Parts: sequence; C-alpha cells; structure tokens
Amino acid sequence: MFQIIKIPAFYDNFIYLCQYDQNNAIVIDPGDSEPVFKELEKRDLTLNAVLATHHHNDHIGGINELKKRTGCRIIGSDRKRIHPIDEIVEDKQILTFGDIKIRVIATPGHTNTSICYYIPKNQELESGILFTGDTLFIGGCGRLFECDAQTMWNSLQKLAALPDDTKVYCGHDYTLENYKFALQQEPNNPLIRQHITEIKTGKQSVPSTIENEKATNIFIKAKTSETFAELRRRKDNF
Ligand code: ZN
Ligand code: FE
Repeated sequence: MFQIIKIPAFYDNFIYLCQYDQNNAIVIDPGDSEPVFKELEKRDLTLNAVLATHHHNDHIGGINELKKRTGCRIIGSDRKRIHPIDEIVEDKQILTFGDIKIRVIATPGHTNTSICYYIPKNQELESGILFTGDTLFIGGCGRLFECDAQTMWNSLQKLAALPDDTKVYCGHDYTLENYKFALQQEPNNPLIRQHITEIKTGKQSVPSTIENEKATNIFIKAKTSETFAELRRRKDNF
C-alpha cells in the first residue's frame, strides 16, 4: 500500500505524509511538526523517516521536534544546512520503505542542493509519484536563489523526461498565481484558461501530472535555457 496524506501548513505549504504499510509512514518536507503529529495519531501510524527536499525552514522547521518525539531518521542532501540530519543522499540513490523504492533526483536550481523524490510505478502504484519541493510547482517553478537559469532549466528537463502519467506533488500552492502569469505569456493556451476557471471553482491543483505540466507549465516548456531565464525574470517582477 501507499497512501499520500496532503497536509496544508502555514499559508501555502504542503507537507506530505505517506503511509507505506499497515503501521508506518514517512513525511516529506515537514515545515511544521504539530499537524504531522495530529495525522500520525489520528491514523495510529509510526513515523519512520523525514525526507527533506531542501534546507529552507518552511520545509524542515518541524524536523527537530519530529525526531525528538518519534526517533525518526532525517534524510536529505545537505549536511551543512539541514539539522539534525542522519543520512545524506545523492542523485540516483534509492531509498527503501517496505515495498516502496524512492529514487533521489538531484535538481539544483532553487538551491544548489535541492533534490526531488521519485517513486516509479510498481505493482502497487498505477503511476509514478514525484515530490518536487520548491523545484517544480504546478504551473511554475522555484526562484533561483543559488543557481543560474541554465542549472534550473537542466533540472526541469530531467523531470520532464519522467513518464507522462507521473503524479506531481509540489511544496507550495502557488498554482493560481502561476497560471495568471502563464496566461499573460500564452494568452491562447486554452488549457491554462481552463485550469484557472477550475481552481476558482475549488478544484485542487495537487497532484498534477508530468503530462499536464508539459502542456501548461511555461517554465518546463521553455525550449532553451535562455527562454527559461527570460520567463523567470519576468515572473520575478510579476
Ligand atoms: Zn524553498
Ligand atoms: Fe518553500
């Protein structure tokens, strides 16, 4: 089994609690601990590990408390900036939880140690699952705090190469704002228009799919890193 529980946190963050067998769970990007404890208790689950996509506090703010009270393992890519980390992972590394295998994909861009977590489809999953942190948003991408546009563009291209039906779970709900900007750049894209209408009538934008992102996310669609850089500049001033 594999079940994802989407926990909203702060204004627009998403924490993802993932139950991978009868009693155990892992959590992706717990910026806060309290809402995670609540879900664990409600579902009577043991927290086995925290997986961090990057070091920003809105993604790891809860890890100290979670580790202290559950003894869970803290996994991430940045030894210097994620405290207290137990296991450093790098590109292509495979993590195993029960029957679930999770592959680390290095995606520098938002920060220089940002990673995504990818679960390929298997007997239990009808499609793959991707946790993107602040690298890829639905209809958008993270700001370039530590890397140049070429680096982020390369990372987005890696994600674009995953199977079309891969479900995308991102770190923030910036979807409506992203689509409003996208529509300004691509006024004739009917799918973007349609998504805006759907969101305004309450449709959840997470999870998306790689296929949908390749159709409506103007950043992942950018054919060159130069085009991407220009879009990112415009979005920063939007
Ligand atoms: Zn961030
Ligand atoms: Fe963030």
